[in-house]
Amino acid sequence: MKKISVIVPCYNEEEAIGLFYEQINKVINSLDYKFELIFVNDGSSDNTYNIIKNLADIDKTVKYINFSRNFGKEAAMYAGLELSSGDLVTIMDADLQDPPSLLPEMIDYINKEGYDCVATKSTSRHGYSFLRKTFTRWFYKIIAKISKTQMVAGARDYRLMSRQMVNAIINMKEYNRYSKGLFSFVGFNTKWIEFENQERVAGSTKWNFWKLFSYALDGIVGFSTAPLIISSVMGVIFCLISFVMIIFIIVKTLVFGDDTSGWPSLACIIFFVSGIQLFCLGIMGQYLSKTYLEVKNRPIYIIKDTNIKNHD
Ligand code: UDP
Ligand code: MG
Repeated sequence: MKKISVIVPCYNEEEAIGLFYEQINKVINSLDYKFELIFVNDGSSDNTYNIIKNLADIDKTVKYINFSRNFGKEAAMYAGLELSSGDLVTIMDADLQDPPSLLPEMIDYINKEGYDCVATKSTSRHGYSFLRKTFTRWFYKIIAKISKTQMVAGARDYRLMSRQMVNAIINMKEYNRYSKGLFSFVGFNTKWIEFENQERVAGSTKWNFWKLFSYALDGIVGFSTAPLIISSVMGVIFCLISFVMIIFIIVKTLVFGDDTSGWPSLACIIFFVSGIQLFCLGIMGQYLSKTYLEVKNRPIYIIKDTNIKNHD
């Protein structure tokens, strides 16, 4: 019998896990598959760890990976993928925003229609703030223009993948992980299905505006070098403008003589140009800092304990 691994990143989800476990079990019991439920406790400060451990004590299908601190959802997903052993692997949020009831349909697409992956996107974004919706929309517009890797708007991390695709993802060992990009980068035949956005069953979202903003920057820096090109182009444009201005001023001085007026405009120009310079330096800094983190080759996550055998 084939096995499906369900990876559930959990960060302070004590209220949601019980409800999730109930729902996923309904689906598990209706399917002709072996299952493993991998809960990744991403350094929760509440009772999440104990709840998962208790589940693991009474249910042999429950596995847990306990991180030494909070490493973020990307790290939690990666750990789950690395330690999973299923023929098919799926990633789900603990808050039931990714409905387990879609699983049978997703399995059918892989088994009957030969897809390697079934990914989900939500059709609406109710339950999220206006600010978040607006910025999300902008982010997808920008990234579509500047990156060769296709990012699907509204895509969730909820997806079912074949072992082959999972292995390809595991082989992408980069430190700055942006999964939406990685999933798309590895290719394979992906079927997209849509569902109505669900509200969280319990607990609260772990993302605030700045976290999302820096996550979006990770996506841009990780999958596009367009900002670097933009800064070079800006440099060239400014050189051209200054060249025209120099000629203009020389001619003006020769024709009308020299007076010392014009310092306020000069001050403005200096401010403007040094602003642009710092902006471009900042762009370079972003790439440099990401490169720095990659070069250091630090582990993506550190496991404190787990009940999964043969992990190294
Ligand atoms: N999560 C995590 N580590 C983090 C933040 C979130 O493992 O540092 C988990 C969280 O427990 C949940 C999933 O990632 O299962 C999605 O988080 P959340 O529901 O807060 O995000 P949203 O649905 O609001 O995008
Ligand atoms: Mg959620």
